[in-house]
Amino acid sequence: MNYCSDCGGRLVNSIPAGDDRLRQVCPACGRVHYQNPKLVVGCIPLWKERASGEERILICKRAIEPRLGYWTLPAGYLENGETAAQGAARETLEETGAEVVDLAPYRMYDIVHVHQIYFIFRARLEAASFHPTKESAEVKLIAESQIPWDEIAFPVIQKTLEDYFRDRPTGRFPFAVGEITERLK
Ligand SMILES: [Zn+2]
Repeated sequence: MNYCSDCGGRLVNSIPAGDDRLRQVCPACGRVHYQNPKLVVGCIPLWKERASGEERILICKRAIEPRLGYWTLPAGYLENGETAAQGAARETLEETGAEVVDLAPYRMYDIVHVHQIYFIFRARLEAASFHPTKESAEVKLIAESQIPWDEIAFPVIQKTLEDYFRDRPTGRFPFAVGEITERLK
């Protein structure tokens, strides 16, 4: 940001009185423009095949940058006025056309170098109903053996999927917190 969103004045970097780090400050109106990490909320959408009873995961192929063409779980920035679970369900609907229920907190990942925190829920698809969207070129239900491990969009998604498939045989999915330090290649 170069200009003040309140008055249009040119911003400078300085340490405000009583603060201990550089901020973008507007000398004209005195407003301090804080920048803080963003919360990304998402789901592991799950579906049980009626015939076999086997579980499938809904994943989507990104139709937008960054990481266009790579596979991911539905996730995006939380909006004002919604809970984390509402945001995760909304992102899932927007990116896959699928409605999820029974959201259960599963992982929180700090990604300090990109100023983000990911909060991922396990969730159940109400129906095997989904479709490509503006953000997803392809959306599909797959088994663990079909996960495209070499084409996963982000380290945090890869880690979340690894966590999930490690927990699944135990039938227990305790909430846990972790940190992603790996950068995109
Ligand atoms: Zn200003």
